[in-house]
Amino acid sequence: MDKRRIYSFGNGEAEGSAGMVALLGGKGAGLQEMTRLGIPVPPGFTITTETCDEWSKAERKLPEGLFPELDAALARLEKASGKTFGTGENPLLVSVRSGAAVSMPGMMETVLDLGMNPDVAQTLERRTGDRRFVWDTYRRFVQMFSNVVANVPHEPFEKALHDAKARASAKQDTDLDADALARLTHEFKDLYRRHRGRAFPDDPREQLLAAIEAVFASFWGKKAMDYRRIEKISDSSGTAVTVQAMVFGNTGPRSGTGVAFTRDPSTGEDRLYGEWLANAQGEDVVAGIRTPRPVAEMEKELPEVHQALLQVKETLEEHYRDVQDLEFTWEDGKLYLLQTRRAKRTAAAAVRTAAEFLRQRKIDPREAVSRVEPRQLMQLLARVFDVKEVARAHKEGRVVARGLPASPGAASGPVVFNPEDAEAQAKAGKPAILVRRMTSPEDIAGMAAAAGLLTSVGGMTSHAAVVARGMGKCCIVGCAALRIDEERNLFTVGGREVRRGDRISIDGFTGDVILGELATQDSEVVEVVQGRRNAASSRVFNDIDMVLRAADTVRRLKVRANADTPQDAQVARVLGAEGIGLVRTEHMFFAEDRILPMREMILADTVPARKKALEKLLPYQRDDFIGIFRAMAGLPVTIRLLDPPLHEFLPETDAIQRAVAARIGMDLKELQERVSAHQELNPMLGHRGCRLGVSHPEIYEMQARAVIEAACLVSAEDVVVRPEIMVPFIGVARELEILRKLIVDEAERVLAERGEKIAYTVGTMIEIPRAAITADQISRHADFFSFGTNDLTQMTFGISRDDAEKAFLPDYEAKGILPENPFAVLDRDGVGGLVKIAVERGRMEKPKLKCGICGEHGGDPSSIAFCHKVGLDYVSCSPYRVPVARLAAARAALT
Ligand code: ADP
Ligand code: MG
Ligand code: MG
Repeated sequence: MDKRRIYSFGNGEAEGSAGMVALLGGKGAGLQEMTRLGIPVPPGFTITTETCDEWSKAERKLPEGLFPELDAALARLEKASGKTFGTGENPLLVSVRSGAAVSMPGMMETVLDLGMNPDVAQTLERRTGDRRFVWDTYRRFVQMFSNVVANVPHEPFEKALHDAKARASAKQDTDLDADALARLTHEFKDLYRRHRGRAFPDDPREQLLAAIEAVFASFWGKKAMDYRRIEKISDSSGTAVTVQAMVFGNTGPRSGTGVAFTRDPSTGEDRLYGEWLANAQGEDVVAGIRTPRPVAEMEKELPEVHQALLQVKETLEEHYRDVQDLEFTWEDGKLYLLQTRRAKRTAAAAVRTAAEFLRQRKIDPREAVSRVEPRQLMQLLARVFDVKEVARAHKEGRVVARGLPASPGAASGPVVFNPEDAEAQAKAGKPAILVRRMTSPEDIAGMAAAAGLLTSVGGMTSHAAVVARGMGKCCIVGCAALRIDEERNLFTVGGREVRRGDRISIDGFTGDVILGELATQDSEVVEVVQGRRNAASSRVFNDIDMVLRAADTVRRLKVRANADTPQDAQVARVLGAEGIGLVRTEHMFFAEDRILPMREMILADTVPARKKALEKLLPYQRDDFIGIFRAMAGLPVTIRLLDPPLHEFLPETDAIQRAVAARIGMDLKELQERVSAHQELNPMLGHRGCRLGVSHPEIYEMQARAVIEAACLVSAEDVVVRPEIMVPFIGVARELEILRKLIVDEAERVLAERGEKIAYTVGTMIEIPRAAITADQISRHADFFSFGTNDLTQMTFGISRDDAEKAFLPDYEAKGILPENPFAVLDRDGVGGLVKIAVERGRMEKPKLKCGICGEHGGDPSSIAFCHKVGLDYVSCSPYRVPVARLAAARAALT
């Protein structure tokens, strides 16, 4: 037998259910489920997505088997509604609605009031005694059917409506009387005839079949296909079609239509939030025909509808255990639900609602984790506009336009209209807001230099949007209200003119464009983390904490932070870091009081001279480690020995060279010769990392001593210390063999001197492809591996990160050569392939070898998912990314 193509619902019974989203589409499955829950839903039936697929594959021919099923379903619908389609004393009108498995709001088509013809209109007039309602409904139908099914353009209809209103001196469409509407209906039908070359179809069955096919076709319409491409939704399957008895929000003041969220979608607050219009149908609320009213006002005016809606909220939230987005209509005071779906929400609302459902034990930790996107946590940590200033800007009418919020953030500054000016502004220390119709790859340097980006054309995947998100830069795109004149360096908006140099502010969370400069402030969460605000007083902090604790019970990956100072370590710890994955020792040497002995050390020409300089550095290093060990009491701390080419520390300018020569008592000439001797053509591949340790063992000896001495001192305070000494830039096993011995010998010397016992480990970074490939040899000498994916990416691709991002990477992304910036998102096939090989080979030798990652990728959600998959033990990221990483690690464990 053929597979079944139609599922009916009505009067409390449904053949489908919520689980059948793939087959019935989100909308269809939702209607079926609400029917089962006893929520009032007009009866109907859903034609499966598979039928759409069949239709597409059969060159847009409806399968024969559909027709008998359709007749049967119509018969059931007539029975359930007590009305008959196209004839009889109680005529049935239906809506024909689209709805695919993955929601594409507004991207496909729907036809309302189908089944109308002159006879039906007459019967309805007689039956309802409401001529105005009948012709309002008829004209709506003709217009929708013409647009959706026959592709007749909108404009002539809009114009006819406009003229009708002008003739009747009507302000709104509700002011038109029955005669005006009847006349309009006939004009609409004429428009159809003129455009199509044949009369408007009056046969309801013909109307129905045409509408079903039009809905199928809308799955392949440009809008829907673009949307799927952008949102990366697959084209497979198709849309379901729901045919449903109409309920009428346009029968008069006691009827109406609305949309609502079961909780506030922007704050997450537990209250019904929405908008409604009386005497209206379908999309009037969102179409901006009249200004809709807030749900709060419904309570007084339509208490019974409001009450029924609250009841539905209870039932649906209890059932779905999530925030729902509803469409509803009431006819003469009786409420009907027409749609329910998972509500889209802001970062704040996502976190708050997940935390609240968790507290009420309505969802488990896994579910909570799946409801918050790691990127949403990032948003809650980003700087925001000062709330008082935003309120004032609104009051003063300085919020002049709204575009698409392409990349979150808050930016203020002078306006410029070309990339050169943006660069000049940045050099002058006053980064600008770059305003352009759209951006192109040549603009990249200016974009990088700008404080924020604002364009008038283009969508969420335009060049500006993509690049801005990559740069983490605040960006608004597609702000059509701006009239930009790049030649004359100005734009106008709402009758106001903004010229080059004028200050504006852009809010990448909302898309708001605001005149004048607005101060920013740390996000509330950051204030708590830094101890400037009490955690107990911060709802958002506690909600995040709740969700992250849930994440901690789900994830397998540990999360550490990269931190070079005790302050950073402290922040990381508050944010939940379980250790430090990378302490970069070189950062410590750049400080004012340390750079001199550092230079002395580098410029020394004998080992004793170098050792003498190193002795001066030792106490500084030790103190830094002491602070970090204390902050991370009980947790592991991985310290990387000196890594960068020494030349980076040497004085460049004449004046400084002179001063240094004087301070260390060296002849200037001599000093300059030694400085240039350190110069390398390609320093990143030069004398750096473990190569320094091989050439100058005394450097790593000093560092090992500083680590172990610090550990002894802190451990004497009864604090548990867990030092891990890490050697960078290993390419050959023998390098590590030699250096490990050197480190262990020095460490043991320190412990013997002090008569202490402290457990420490020695491991290596894997950041050179050769090291990854020969990981089995290397792991013999390593207690752990830490993937330095910044260098590993550079070397695997042969791309210099510092140069490429300015030069060709944007072109590569634009032309689809690289889907994403490999320095931001780990390249799974290449770099990831090496990581995988290294983990496997390393563990061949040492099955329990601890493996982590400490490159920038350690804070990127999709890279974290990969780290989980290849079996790393931990990721390490910058302190403020720790929450993101905890959540991303948990989400990785879910899939
Ligand atoms: P979309 O996916 O664009 O929201 P819908 O199929 O949900 O399209 O329908 C568009 C509008 O028509 C919605 O406001 C919906 O509530 C309304 N509508 C759909 N079916 C009916 C019906 N049977 N009775 C009354 N209004 C309906
Ligand atoms: Mg809808
Ligand atoms: Mg490195």
